[in-house]
Amino acid sequence: MVRESANKSAFAIIVAAGSGSRCPGPQAKQFLNLCGQPLYLWSVKAFQESQAIVGIVVVGPKHNHEILLKMQQETALFDKVKAVVAGGDSRTESVSCGAAALAKAIDHLSESDPILIHDGVRPLVTPKLIGKVAEQTGPKQLAIPTTTPTATVKKIVGKTITETIDREAIGLAQTPQGVPYGLLCKALEHWLEDPTKRVTDEGSLVERLPLEKRTGITTINVEGESSNLKVTFPEELQQAESLLLKNINREEVPYKPRQATGFGYDVHAFASERKLILGGIEIPDHVGLAGHSDADVVIHALVDALLGAVGAGDIGQHFPDHDPAFKNLCSLHFLERAMTIVREKGFYLESADITIVAQEPKLAPHIPAMLTMLRKTIASPCQLNIKATTSEGLGFTGRREGIATYAVANVTAK
Ligand code: MG
Repeated sequence: MVRESANKSAFAIIVAAGSGSRCPGPQAKQFLNLCGQPLYLWSVKAFQESQAIVGIVVVGPKHNHEILLKMQQETALFDKVKAVVAGGDSRTESVSCGAAALAKAIDHLSESDPILIHDGVRPLVTPKLIGKVAEQTGPKQLAIPTTTPTATVKKIVGKTITETIDREAIGLAQTPQGVPYGLLCKALEHWLEDPTKRVTDEGSLVERLPLEKRTGITTINVEGESSNLKVTFPEELQQAESLLLKNINREEVPYKPRQATGFGYDVHAFASERKLILGGIEIPDHVGLAGHSDADVVIHALVDALLGAVGAGDIGQHFPDHDPAFKNLCSLHFLERAMTIVREKGFYLESADITIVAQEPKLAPHIPAMLTMLRKTIASPCQLNIKATTSEGLGFTGRREGIATYAVANVTAK
């Protein structure tokens, strides 16, 4: 039965308040990086895109002001998000916090308005499913998406299997689950009388109401989507990632790796009447290198490695060698700017390793001073290593024509 007021607008409460204890790591699972975005944000995006939804409340963790602030920033681009609020100790308490915030944010909320409650750890929910659930939620009607189990289902009593259950008669519940606002409030009020009772979805929350308070209420089964998986364990994160990558337009959402390595290489020829600057310090008693800036071949290779690691092009794009602003400029400025780009792209520098190839001068005694200078400019903790080698007299470095440098940089997503 399709409810009469099919064009009526629906609201959503996205619950992203869990502690994520089953997914190892420092972050709760709803904040794990999924294709470049926090996992819960994919749900927010799907609800934003759904034409059936006019307002969204996102519920974050309890007692974590910093995370809530971050969530507010992350959802700022979605104009349907009306509030980001702290949740409670249990899922139902968090839904209750979300319902209260919704009532506060929407002054014309009526008892029959469909409220879709969604788990923030189901990132693959589609606007299509959201539309179907909203459509089927009526003043006296809940709508719950389910899928049919693919395996044969057995009834187990103790250690014994007692019967095979017709799997066509079984549904695995998903979210979003649609409940009319008035009924949701009644069911939450009733649950709050004994909040120790664990409720895992809105369907069972309403089932807990005394019979007289839910007379005439029906729950409609909506065909769920097998891709609408709940990320509870790490392997499900990988599964969600591969499913998302199939769907998303890569141009629209740039892929952000959790870890990345960048490689840099640079060469400068020796030139008389120039100071030799390597790794941000002056190496005395040797001719310098030709170049537009100070020709610090070590920093140039490192900068290219950093830019490469965060997918930000190369040193020439950021600091063109025809730009008079960079003439004779100390290359530490390039390094400082490259580190800002690394941070702006949402990464930390974990480590960098640099190999300088020079037949002369002897560089080993200068490496500690180079490291000190680079560390000071990088200005964040990381492992930094510099090695100097010769090319055994071979090639252009061996012929003492110039210096080459190789660098690799490793970054991890914030
Ligand atoms: Mg260069």
